[in-house]
Amino acid sequence: YDDRDGYIWMDGEFVPWRDTRVHLLTHALHYGSAVFEGERAYNGVIFKSLQHSQRLHNSAKIMGFDIPFTVEQIEAAKKETLAKTGLDSAYVRAIAWRGSEMMGVSAQNNTIHLAIAVWPWGDYFQDKMKGIRMTHAQWRRPAPDTAPCNAKAAGLYMICTLSKHAAEKDGYADALMLDYRGQVAEATGANIFFVRDGAIHTPTPDCFLNGLTRQTVIGLAKDRQIEIIERAIMPDELPTFSECFITGSAAEVTPVSEIGEHTYKPAELTGLMVDDYDKLVRGQPI
Ligand code: PMP
Repeated sequence: YDDRDGYIWMDGEFVPWRDTRVHLLTHALHYGSAVFEGERAYNGVIFKSLQHSQRLHNSAKIMGFDIPFTVEQIEAAKKETLAKTGLDSAYVRAIAWRGSEMMGVSAQNNTIHLAIAVWPWGDYFQDKMKGIRMTHAQWRRPAPDTAPCNAKAAGLYMICTLSKHAAEKDGYADALMLDYRGQVAEATGANIFFVRDGAIHTPTPDCFLNGLTRQTVIGLAKDRQIEIIERAIMPDELPTFSECFITGSAAEVTPVSEIGEHTYKPAELTGLMVDDYDKLVRGQPI
């Protein structure tokens, strides 16, 4: 991704894409002290942009630092960066991190940096509408007193990359992560939903990100009077569901056809959520 034309917004100014540098002794590189957002723009408008900027601020607070730009400034910077790319549909990555003045676990006085990069990004999964094949992850989401699970923090993705790589090695697109209690949690970069008897079931987000897409899809289902049940879901329930889909800003609403030994057939409710989400993000009537 480093060898491209264009500009990245960095600490208040545009820097040519290839010239965006951080020092080797950046705290975030050594100790995972970065928070970020993944967003999508449709027809030139970033979907739920304000909520993403607010979550970025909140993630930083949870990680013990303040971003030296207000939510409003971040909003303006994202808009400006998107406009500068000239793209209608794009992925937006905002990231804030502890800089390089101090080296060691402590980084009390390090400068907090902020950057925003925008690039074209198609579907998160190949052949996504066929339904993706998932396997079981070997890593579990940590307890809320083990890791700051409400922050979209870089360090939390270590087990996601490990799980995703293991899945891909075996020919799967993604992996289902359980939590520290053994309950169904989420995919490596998206929340998960199941369908049974006309109702949608999804795990309570008490140790993983309550995704903005997750919240949007719950709203869309409610608008259609579809019953939504947030609860603890145990893995032994996986064979009792008929449909499954995952949600995320990058993944959007992606049907799932398989989780390990269990198969699902994307059907009416998955289709409705895919279509409703598609219309909503593009500002079309549902
Ligand atoms: N869980 C994880 C681990 C993620 O990386 C994401 C993507 N940000 C989500 C859930 C979904 O969050 P959102 O819908 O806000 O993109």
